[in-house]
Amino acid sequence: KPLVFSGVQPTGNLHLGNYLGAIRKFVALQADNDCIYCVVDLHSITAQLVHEDLKGQIRSIAAAFIASGIDPEKHIVFNQSAVPQHAELAWIFNCVARIGWMNRMTQFKDKAGKDRENASLGLLAYPSLMAADILVYRGTHVPVGDDQKQHLELARDIAMKFNLDFRDNIRATGTGVDILVGDEPVHAYFPMVEPMIEGPAPRVMSLRDGTKKMSKSDPSDLSRINLMDDAETISKKIRKAKTDPEALPSEAEGLKGRPEAENLVGIYAALSDRSKADVLSEFGGQQFSTFKPALVDLAVTVLSPITAEMRRLMDDTAHIDAILRNGGERARARAEKTMAEVSDIIGFLR
Ligand code: ATP
Ligand code: MG
Repeated sequence: KPLVFSGVQPTGNLHLGNYLGAIRKFVALQADNDCIYCVVDLHSITAQLVHEDLKGQIRSIAAAFIASGIDPEKHIVFNQSAVPQHAELAWIFNCVARIGWMNRMTQFKDKAGKDRENASLGLLAYPSLMAADILVYRGTHVPVGDDQKQHLELARDIAMKFNLDFRDNIRATGTGVDILVGDEPVHAYFPMVEPMIEGPAPRVMSLRDGTKKMSKSDPSDLSRINLMDDAETISKKIRKAKTDPEALPSEAEGLKGRPEAENLVGIYAALSDRSKADVLSEFGGQQFSTFKPALVDLAVTVLSPITAEMRRLMDDTAHIDAILRNGGERARARAEKTMAEVSDIIGFLR
């Protein structure tokens, strides 16, 4: 069975981008895979060190996973800091990866802003920890939004360099398997991770600016639809969403150069499990004044049961904490096995 791994940071309100780009895919992958879904709290202190109510944030991500339909008994739901092997493997990967690789990451450039010298070292090394999150379980399939594509390519580069640099030790310890990388046979310890990004809304954009991704850390709450928003708030945000004055086109081609229109149609398509072309065959030629109320109805219908269940779960913190603790124990057992093998491959004395 393929091993699916993904994570979400406890950095604020979960939004529609997190749901459509990530969590909804997590749910769909459960049927045919072994899945590990993580609240990545170690990542959440890279951009901002001090958080108000970090515990509450961690619980709310776990509640969103479960409210969306993730089964924490069949699969694993836990918080990253409960399994110290993530940080341990990340240290090894810091020594495998090159500084130049990290400097090229667009997320680092965006989040560090102009004063890059003053960003935390953790923010620069973020992709190294992300590679460790996946590879400490020797995960192969990673459902994420399009913004994480570059980090997954880096995870492949790290795995590849580790496999090549330690080729002889991997053979000597008998821990590797033969894999094909392109046409090239490689004796590998770490597998090559596959990003799973496809879908009609791989990158949901801000409601205020169609060229920026919808983000938890955007200061404007009007820029995103939060999973915890009530129907009235969703309606207000969609009504206020930026658009252009034209009617909707009747074919997907006509969305080119209209980022706000493309975003709203993409959201409608994703929420209704249809293609953009199909949505436009219904709404083509109509004004946003007709399309927006339809989008409000659809968003409220899909999100309100999840919101209600999240609220219910968050009232019982002891229950959420027990789920996370149990998931952490099961994850740790697997991660310990990997770290023992990695120590042997590197040649540490244990
Ligand atoms: P932050 O601003 O703190 O980085 P975020 O909104 O980017 O928060 P993350 O926790 O970093 O959320 O990402 C969790 C998952 O959600 C990732 O798989 C990421 O690719 C996905 N994701 C985040 N934003 C979007 C978006 N706008 N559209 C689609 N997927 C997204
Ligand atoms: Mg992010």
